[in-house]
Amino acid sequence: MLSTLSRDRYSSNMAIVSSSAGRADSQPPAAKSRVVDASPLPEEASPAREDGLRPRRLEDYIGQRELKQVLGIAVKAAIGRGDALDHVLLYGPPGLGKTTMAMVLAEELGVKCRVTSAPALERPRDIVGLLVNLQPREVLFIDEIHRLTRVAEELLYPAMEDRRLDLTVGKGSTARTRALELPPFTLVGATTRAGALSSPLRDRFGLIQRLEFYGLEDLQAIVERAAGLLRLQLTAQACQEIARRCRGTPRIANRLLRRVRDVASVCGGESLIDAALVDEALTLHRVDARGLDASDRRLLDLLLESHGGGPVGLETLAAALGEDPATLEAVVEPFLLQLGFLQRTPRGRVVTGAGRRHLGWPALP
Ligand code: ADP
Repeated sequence: MLSTLSRDRYSSNMAIVSSSAGRADSQPPAAKSRVVDASPLPEEASPAREDGLRPRRLEDYIGQRELKQVLGIAVKAAIGRGDALDHVLLYGPPGLGKTTMAMVLAEELGVKCRVTSAPALERPRDIVGLLVNLQPREVLFIDEIHRLTRVAEELLYPAMEDRRLDLTVGKGSTARTRALELPPFTLVGATTRAGALSSPLRDRFGLIQRLEFYGLEDLQAIVERAAGLLRLQLTAQACQEIARRCRGTPRIANRLLRRVRDVASVCGGESLIDAALVDEALTLHRVDARGLDASDRRLLDLLLESHGGGPVGLETLAAALGEDPATLEAVVEPFLLQLGFLQRTPRGRVVTGAGRRHLGWPALP
């Protein structure tokens, strides 16, 4: 374990403890093929395959004003005290910058960030190996923290609270518990499902922060920054067009920008990318003006064409679309709900007036 920990270091302040972190594996199958899905694609899943677009300092981290303010103050206070930052829980939809923020915090604290994911901590010795190797004030980032095993959680409780690791040595009647003192450290946990966290674990985080979907201005700034880093020239309108279609999510914004770059390099030839070219590229990928893709439209079309707009139960809808109900619920529906194009009612799913308008259907009398 010790060698695994030091082997995977890849940048000045960061160690990837488990690149097999299983983030992509945990996604429902249909999620992988959609250009607008916020889950990381295999090539985006591991921070080890960094694309250079991740902001490294707090000042480069765009948007999330309140989050930055709260954490910025906490970092300054921790540095002032010469102590570790309090444990931080970040929750919110995928692709909004939780991993990025963990790395930014480490950078601001001037320490390493060790990155792992709960599915990679299946055996007790995985988490023990991680904890005993921490250096003072380092950041340990655990993604998908709601998926920790019971044993791993129980090892974490005293580690988080009393900087103590309780190890069982020996077996059966000769088994004894030995307490190992740990250096002060910061656990940054990330989850898309804060409700799935056990309350003893949640209670041990001093700072609990929600990440919000990004507004248009922030997204435009994110696209402009990424375009600069990728040495692409985009007009302000082109950046705006990507911002409008990326579902409030920086990961999708960056992905759409790369698809636009592909189209520009193949057919454009010209150096300045304008809104028309963005539209052409994203239409090619079937991402429409509000960020809906073919799966979203298929769901709304089915509801409108075959069921008069609903209500229709999830199971019926999933069967008609040939999708798995869990995938439909977790991957396709959330954005439609957020846009207000779809409603969940006790009797099933219903297309709203805004949804009808977007698909060019007349309003209901
Ligand atoms: P999460 O951990 O919430 O799934 P990530 O932190 O991996 O999301 O972010 C995905 C990508 O989006 C990052 O690689 C980064 O390039 C970009 N990103 C996220 N948040 C921001 C931000 N606030 N400003 C600029 N880019 C961001």
